[in-house]
Amino acid sequence: MMIPKFKSTIEVRVAHNDIHFIDNIKSTIKIFESEEKVVELIKEIDGRNSEDEIYYKLKQNFEDITLEDVKETLDSMLKFGLISDEYKNSHQYSNPIFEKWNRQILFWDAYGQEGISGIDIQEKLFNSNVLIVGVGGLGSWVGMYLTQIGLGNITIIDYDHVEKSNLNRQVLFCEKDVGKLKTVAAKESLLNINSSINVTTYNTKIDDYIVLDEYLDGIDFVINCADEPNVFDTGMIVGKACMERSIPHIIGGGYNHHIGMLGPTVIPYKSPCWGCYELQLKLPEWSSYEVIKNRTKGEAPSLNILTSHIANIQSFEIIKVLTGITPPTMMGKKGEVNLNTLDTSYEVFRRQPNCKMCGKGNTSGKSGRERMFTNERI
Ligand SMILES: [Zn+2]
Repeated sequence: MMIPKFKSTIEVRVAHNDIHFIDNIKSTIKIFESEEKVVELIKEIDGRNSEDEIYYKLKQNFEDITLEDVKETLDSMLKFGLISDEYKNSHQYSNPIFEKWNRQILFWDAYGQEGISGIDIQEKLFNSNVLIVGVGGLGSWVGMYLTQIGLGNITIIDYDHVEKSNLNRQVLFCEKDVGKLKTVAAKESLLNINSSINVTTYNTKIDDYIVLDEYLDGIDFVINCADEPNVFDTGMIVGKACMERSIPHIIGGGYNHHIGMLGPTVIPYKSPCWGCYELQLKLPEWSSYEVIKNRTKGEAPSLNILTSHIANIQSFEIIKVLTGITPPTMMGKKGEVNLNTLDTSYEVFRRQPNCKMCGKGNTSGKSGRERMFTNERI
């Protein structure tokens, strides 16, 4: 049984011979040919009448209408994401766990098509596990956003302690945390935001992709938020480990004064990877030089407004990949946001046949395809 209800973002208007469905979020309009019985059917869609009740009401004025006609029309409206099924929703909404995310579920609802509801999308997030490598300026904001959004499993790797100089931008830490391990303080903070999620932490330094591989069981997405010694080195470690396991990932983490770095987002064997980036656009020449003196730790200029802005965009990119609500934006692209002007410039790159990670240049003997990520919407 279906109890149809128009989504809260949908407005219906009739003009001339057409019925216009106006979606205020997507700014799209769907137009159906106007028929009197369809107009009357739309009037009966109120979140209380079942499809059978709508049929019996219409039958009084339109003798030739069949239950199949009503079901077909409602099914196509469901498919186009114009209505939702209140019967299904009321059963799922009865679970108190959804109460906290009611407004957000309505937000997801606007994306849902072909019978996928906002609750279905929220459930995907409840069941996802995201690994954040490095919980500093960027990683702490990503952790906060994902936790507030209700992502059910967050795994954090970091080896550092909270310092006073972190407190201007690392949102998960406050004055009482100074001196604590970042993993410990971050876990406390995330569970304060949402006590119903699982937070797993590893206090360790990731300096090789083989080390990172030990922590990837059950992980659906990895975001690199570590930029020590630099984002190119940490990006390569995260990229290699994730490609071996076919885990989608974002190489993020670097920002410099008023410039923030976005992406790229990598869907293994579907999008260009960090190895493709290295081949096509060439990493800076200095990235292969031997380091004889690291840059002074803790002295890079940094502002919470920039780190949160970058984390904000990256977090939504993670949501896009995990739920398929809309395609990720940063595949094959690495962006730089200028906080002063809000201009974003992009380097665009393609998959390279000889890539050592995703192409013929991969001689490790592992294809990494056993956990091939499949998401029909990408
Ligand atoms: Zn590649």
